[in-house]
Amino acid sequence: MSNHLVVVGGGQAGFSLISKLRSLGDTRSISLVTAEKYPPYQRPPLSKKYLIGEMQFERLLFRPTKWYDDQSVSLYLQNKVSSFDVQNKSLLLASGRSISYSNLALTTGSEAIRLPDSMGGNLDGVHTLRNIDDVDNIAVQLKSATSVLVIGGGVYWP
Ligand SMILES: Cc1cc2nc3c(=O)[nH]c(=O)nc-3n(C[C@H](O)[C@H](O)[C@H](O)COP(=O)(O)OP(=O)(O)OC[C@H]3O[C@@H](n4cnc5c(N)ncnc54)[C@H](O)[C@@H]3O)c2cc1C
Repeated sequence: MSNHLVVVGGGQAGFSLISKLRSLGDTRSISLVTAEKYPPYQRPPLSKKYLIGEMQFERLLFRPTKWYDDQSVSLYLQNKVSSFDVQNKSLLLASGRSISYSNLALTTGSEAIRLPDSMGGNLDGVHTLRNIDDVDNIAVQLKSATSVLVIGGGVYWP
């Protein structure tokens, strides 16, 4: 594809880039490749209203899936990029598929650091909190939890 922007990472940064380009009238071909199975969504409510059931999944999404069709953005969900060939301007997905690009944006964000197994990181009931699946698992266990230990103090707005 001659003028094809590939955005790797479907978080806020990837979504904002695409949405801004389209709102400025940019008509190039765009693909969004992301490891998660959901289109881009807000993370801040995950540890707040979504966790306690006051916000539904659909409201987390920056835009419904249809928006990407309407904006002619090809969505590759649950597709982790495993390598890049910078010389040939192509990238390889974990599924084995390759995609060519003329421009590439890496918006791959960050991951939670897991405790090592030697410190119990692999035990039942030990979670990281970064994405929807993490919170869905935590919410189930919280119902019967009698005590909770939180390791790591990030930002919190009450
Ligand atoms: C629970 C929680 C609560 C938060 N609350 C607040 C708050 O109240 N206020 C605030 O300002 N910020 C908050 N944050 C932080 C905020 O959500 C982040 O700053 C923001 O998500 C960063 O967006 P990003 O797009 O840069 O990266 P990310 O959100 O990390 O998105 C990156 C995406 O790239 C994907 N990806 C990574 N590698 C690959 C690959 N190789 N191939 C394909 N896809 C890949 C990931 O799966 C992910 O979907 C919170 C974060 C969390 C987790």
